[in-house]
Amino acid sequence: MNMKIDPWSALNIEDYSKLFDEFGILPFDEMSLKINEPHRYMKRKIIFGHRSYDLISDAMRNKKPFSVMSGFMPSGKIHLGHKMVMEEIIWHQQQGADAFVGIADREAHSVRGIPWKNCNEIGMNEYIISLIALGFQPHGHIYFQSASEQVKDLAFEMGAKANFSELSAIYGFTGETSISHMLSAVTQSADILHPQLEEYGGPKPTVIPVGADQDPHIRLTRGIGHKMNMFKIEGREDKEGNVYFSIRNKAAPEEALKEIKERIPARTRLFEGHVDVFDTEDFEMVLDTTRKVELEYGGYAFVPPAATYHRFMSGLQGGKMSSSIPDSYISLTENPKSAAKKVKRAKTGGRMTLDEQKKLGGEPDKCSVYEMFLFHLVEDDQELAQIYTECVQGSRMCGNCKELAAHRTEKFLKEHQELRTVAKDRLDEYGLLIKKV
Ligand code: SF4
Repeated sequence: MNMKIDPWSALNIEDYSKLFDEFGILPFDEMSLKINEPHRYMKRKIIFGHRSYDLISDAMRNKKPFSVMSGFMPSGKIHLGHKMVMEEIIWHQQQGADAFVGIADREAHSVRGIPWKNCNEIGMNEYIISLIALGFQPHGHIYFQSASEQVKDLAFEMGAKANFSELSAIYGFTGETSISHMLSAVTQSADILHPQLEEYGGPKPTVIPVGADQDPHIRLTRGIGHKMNMFKIEGREDKEGNVYFSIRNKAAPEEALKEIKERIPARTRLFEGHVDVFDTEDFEMVLDTTRKVELEYGGYAFVPPAATYHRFMSGLQGGKMSSSIPDSYISLTENPKSAAKKVKRAKTGGRMTLDEQKKLGGEPDKCSVYEMFLFHLVEDDQELAQIYTECVQGSRMCGNCKELAAHRTEKFLKEHQELRTVAKDRLDEYGLLIKKV
């Protein structure tokens, strides 16, 4: 199986466990135990993996500053897949994160050829209004990439640390790939790191909730962020087995190293290109001092971005959800009654006959209707467990089950669309950064 992950071709990743081995994504299971009230996507293993989420769970537990950031490409209808990411952003905002949402209009324009005017309209009418209707609070930040000077400036700086071979290895770019397409890759990296700029309080853990297909962006960004930092801290051991920290200078003036040596309240020794710190196990103190000095000397001191990875819902007809097949997905802005009809036509995990269903039970793990319950329509874990059990035991029939899913879909969409109307009147509260075209 080809495990190259390409965010622009949205591969159907069938075997998530390979992501753990081949790309170093860690399973989320144990992380859920460290969170007070995990989101239902965490409890239900829909969020299945992470990178560096321990930084986020630590920040949540200890009330330290952290951010959440994700972006949406304004290229089509907002659907339930986007709703998932929005819910994850809003949940983190409720847990205390400074929340950022970028509308990736530069990407939509350069990769999909969408005119700026349409980028604006789709970004606003589809994504931003639903984001607010779902509960995003005005103290967060919503911006269009093209209107954010900070993101564009940072993208330019980051571009100096990323080369063509690196981008090609990750995305499969060729000599035919346009420069703007490449630029949109570093712009997304700038999206991810810009919550750590001084204007937003400086370096801090930032989580990016994404589908597994977006991991290349995360890896690229972590790599570039690392290259941009002036210092690297290594844990080392001397000949006697004593452990010490070595602060290695990558790009800082020598005075900065001297400054670090002066400020660290422990035994230190200055060498050419590094300061070694002895007789302390306080890594946080060493890290904090180094970051402060880096910022004073004009560096960024980025914390590598964390990420959560979620499973994808399959299409209502089975297979992949695709924007070119309207029956495969539910849009948040579509007519609630026609959406309910789609659910009634969805592929189930039911058997050929009622008798078989009673005898063998259904197969909820292969059922699009069950997925609707699991991801979106059933909040209560006990109710979900009951649906699952009744299905596999053969006491639940697909007809009634679809009726229930269709009814809840219609109800959710009606309510959401009413909230969208309210959200349209609240846009002023959000201080939106929008490109004027
Ligand atoms: Fe799916 Fe419900 Fe049929 Fe089970 S009974 S296969 S959950 S539609």
